[in-house]
Amino acid sequence: MRSSKHIIDKTEKYGAANYKPKDIVIEKARGVMVYNPEGEEFFDMLSAYSALNFGHGHPEIIAAAKEQLDKVTLTSRAFHNSVLCDFYENLCALTGKEMALPMNTGAEAVETAIKTARRWGADVKGVDDHCQEIIVCENNFHGRTITIITMSTDDTARRGFGPFTPGFVKVKFGDANALEAAITPNTVAFLVEPIQGEAGIIIPPDGYLKKVREICTANNVLLIADEVQTGFARTGDMFACQHENVEPDIYVLGKALGGGVMPVSAIAANADILGVFEPGSHGSTFGGNPLACAVAVKAMEILVRDDYPKQAREKGDYFIRKLREIDNKDIVDIRGRGLFVGVEFSIPALCYVKKLIANGVLAKETHEKTIRFAPPIIITYDELDKAIEKIKIAFKGD
Ligand SMILES: *Cc1c(COP(=O)(O)O)cnc(C)c1O
Repeated sequence: MRSSKHIIDKTEKYGAANYKPKDIVIEKARGVMVYNPEGEEFFDMLSAYSALNFGHGHPEIIAAAKEQLDKVTLTSRAFHNSVLCDFYENLCALTGKEMALPMNTGAEAVETAIKTARRWGADVKGVDDHCQEIIVCENNFHGRTITIITMSTDDTARRGFGPFTPGFVKVKFGDANALEAAITPNTVAFLVEPIQGEAGIIIPPDGYLKKVREICTANNVLLIADEVQTGFARTGDMFACQHENVEPDIYVLGKALGGGVMPVSAIAANADILGVFEPGSHGSTFGGNPLACAVAVKAMEILVRDDYPKQAREKGDYFIRKLREIDNKDIVDIRGRGLFVGVEFSIPALCYVKKLIANGVLAKETHEKTIRFAPPIIITYDELDKAIEKIKIAFKGD
């Protein structure tokens, strides 16, 4: 057997240091539980940033993948494959949109949304090409490409990577007046996370998204919701925008769409918007590949059949209630929606993350002082109780 230490040493020797993982090697996983080579078990309370909403190795998703593996895995878009049509149909039904465009990673879907909005601006709204402006929020996280880090306000993500992409304006998250003030005749879109995940589970004030929707509509500006992390039931609704009954013009989706198996992302919008693409104008070799589609189709089927939004809502309420029983003077806020929960401390949270891991709970701090809990939505109440017991021990005040 290779020890965790051996594996970590080798990883650090050969790998670029663009990540600093916790000292845990996951060798096997099933459902909510993960196991290291030494056979110790841990509760996965991060779920690969919501990519594992279905838990590890969901039997039906794995079966769908295996079945497709034996048929055909890749065709490129030079030819049709027999699964993409079902992917489109399912995603359109789920989002209520007329069309979708598949990619692989979340960042690619964000880039696709930006291209869509710019071209819509030029072709439909009548903004001069090269003059399109897109408004984004401070402290956003939309991914890692050059254009996307252009939109970032995080210096660690940007330093040394210039020159950046023109055409972006940043406003305060949660402030609808700031959005309204930033709109010009050249504004084509407002890109926003309905809840800012990486920034520390930041929930905007009530009514914000509704106000944003009104402002966008009134100014003929597309509302683009980056639901890569919040989408597919995580927050207790199928999409987080639905909490305020808001329908964005473009959904940006990823993470859980791949069922924890494949990178699968997409944008969904109506034909008057996604119709701006003609053959050759955008694409991806692996986008819409049959293996990805088979996995995503099964994932979407399970989401609806097993009412994941309701599960996330009820389990999330229970989880937050239990967390609030914890008496620790370092905890300044416990907030969340569905199974998307942040515990904010007055001090750097790393010491508590270490205690969690030592007690068998995997979680990670985000923005230094907040610990995000986003367990697989399939977590049972029994598992939740066991995890909460461990969290209580780790968070015990001195
Ligand atoms: C993770 C994430 C992305 C980027 O997805 P990748 O698959 O890592 O490229 C974009 N937006 C949000 C909100 C995310 O959480």
